[in-house]
Amino acid sequence: MELIEHYQPEYVIRFAERVRPCDCPACQNRADDWPATQLKLKNQQRDSLDAGCETAAREILLNPQAFVLHTSTTRPDSELGLSAWDETLNQQCINLAVHPALTIESSLYATGVLLSKAQRYLDNDQSDPQLLLEMGEQLADLAERGILDEQLQLLPPIEVNRVEALEQMGAMRLTLNLPAMQKMSMMLKLSELAVMQPARLQDRLRELEAVTARNALLTDQPHILRNALIYKLYGECLPGPNADNYGDVLMSLTRMMFQLKMLCAMWLEDNAQLTHDDVVALFSAWFSWQRGNVWKGANSADYTLLCGLSLI
Ligand SMILES: [Zn+2]
Repeated sequence: MELIEHYQPEYVIRFAERVRPCDCPACQNRADDWPATQLKLKNQQRDSLDAGCETAAREILLNPQAFVLHTSTTRPDSELGLSAWDETLNQQCINLAVHPALTIESSLYATGVLLSKAQRYLDNDQSDPQLLLEMGEQLADLAERGILDEQLQLLPPIEVNRVEALEQMGAMRLTLNLPAMQKMSMMLKLSELAVMQPARLQDRLRELEAVTARNALLTDQPHILRNALIYKLYGECLPGPNADNYGDVLMSLTRMMFQLKMLCAMWLEDNAQLTHDDVVALFSAWFSWQRGNVWKGANSADYTLLCGLSLI
């Protein structure tokens, strides 16, 4: 039988090498090999961890080397195929997410440009992966010349989309592993978003964005948000074989970043600083929640791409 590529990121290896089992709340009462996960495809296997485990989230988010890939071979254990188009598109998205010349915001913008172009190709029944490789090269060139950063700055702000995204955070039910007072405050801040009047929501957005701008941890350690983005692209193989609306894919990525930044801002309103432990607790709870709440829009790809870009 033919052997296939077997990928293990550094965070999977480090987690497996732990001597003591994790005793975070999500790991209690689990006897199976959770949080280990495997995405098995016909031509490759990707190992990962469920970030709902806090130890896993710590390895995934805090180590700048978390995504160094270890490659071996294994026997195929799935009939699920990934077309050359889907595989190339996923790789190009990851390339943009890790490009050293791009900030996380410009990486998301570049991903939006790539997905918009890819959608156009698909709509015209063109699915030659070479088209994506050429697009990836062009974007890398624009990235190195600073042009993507410039273009991102020129995007007109569409605050109404951000206000709506904030309002929708009112429906989030996070299982936060935090001291009772802090947990209650975060839950209140989230649930009140669902009942605020539009004008108040707009003020609230501006308050939280002002706090986000002062988020020293995420500014000084940009790999934390970047790792969250790569984790999602790698682990879910986005856009994935079932995606027919790439606008939804971009939206799921920019909404994730928006929500994670807003959670940190809410935390920083009450607490003098955001530590590694805090960010792990918040992000781990977010990843647990999103597993049962995959975003699915009802609009055209073009419209959703624009909305997605406005959340960057
Ligand atoms: Zn755990």
